[in-house]
Amino acid sequence: MCHAMLWENFREEAVQCRLCAHGCSLKNDGKGRCGVRMNRNGKVIPLVANVVTSVHLDPVEKKPLYHFLPGSKIFSVGSAGCNFACSFCQNFAISQIRPGGRMPGKIVDPDALVEMAESRAARSMAFTYNEPTVFFELVYETAGLAQAAGIRPVIVSNGYMSQECLLMLGRRLSAANIDLKSFRDNFYKKYCNARLQPVLDNLKVFKSLGIWLEVTTLVIPGINDSDAELRDMASFVHDELGAETPWHLSAFHGAYKMIAHPPTPLSRLEEARHIGLEKGLRFVYIGNVRSLLGGNTFCSRCGELVVERSGYNVRFRESPGVCPSCKTTLPGIWQ
Ligand code: SF4
Repeated sequence: MCHAMLWENFREEAVQCRLCAHGCSLKNDGKGRCGVRMNRNGKVIPLVANVVTSVHLDPVEKKPLYHFLPGSKIFSVGSAGCNFACSFCQNFAISQIRPGGRMPGKIVDPDALVEMAESRAARSMAFTYNEPTVFFELVYETAGLAQAAGIRPVIVSNGYMSQECLLMLGRRLSAANIDLKSFRDNFYKKYCNARLQPVLDNLKVFKSLGIWLEVTTLVIPGINDSDAELRDMASFVHDELGAETPWHLSAFHGAYKMIAHPPTPLSRLEEARHIGLEKGLRFVYIGNVRSLLGGNTFCSRCGELVVERSGYNVRFRESPGVCPSCKTTLPGIWQ
């Protein structure tokens, strides 16, 4: 059993977990809100230590990351559990697991994961599918080994880790895709069992650490897609993270407790993209649905097409990230 990181004794046998912004106090035998960290006799036990439920070699565009080694494959690793309880989670079978019976997946050591990534010639490795914060010990150690082997570590996250956790992990990350699920605290409380402000604070920290950052919003019709809320999100990304931060607008399809909720019409995603561009963002993408132009990268200087995407197929007009017309190199990590 590996030792949990980022916790402290609280009083008597109670402990406090410092891994995410929930900061759970755990009584003896109690579990945190994520369900995968437990107080056993005054010590925090990570119940998903080295548990891996999924390993895939994915197109990097699937994360989604559009300005990070485009066209390459990323070795992707998932475990189980989540510190959110999103009603619309597409991966609820692994994210909402509550250990007690048989744990899914198998035990895999960090060095074995790096060997697997190397044997598949992956240039990067993502911690994804469920929230990486809740299997931090595996993420932290594996990211360090991957970095030493020349494989660039990435997280796909809800951005709710504690700043202490983020500052530790940040040194080992090359890129991140972080969800901005809404710009309303009520949304985070009602649909995710979380709060908005820690996510906003962490997004700024990601940026300040120099980690390549892309932001994703799942646009849910009638829930978080009003013009006013989309404008608020676009303004935040523009003003606090920078006009050149890619913003992905992802189509909702019914899942988990919101299985019957209607999908996002393409027309609404196009309107949302327009709002983002109007607010001054340079790279606003439509994903999770077929869109003629919404997946392409256009030059932020002259407007020329630079990267053409169709599904996960990528075609560069010239060398990666370089505008074929004005020769501007766009922001990102291209090679
Ligand atoms: S990771 Fe977050 S939700 Fe889980 S026990 Fe720690 S503070 Fe609570």
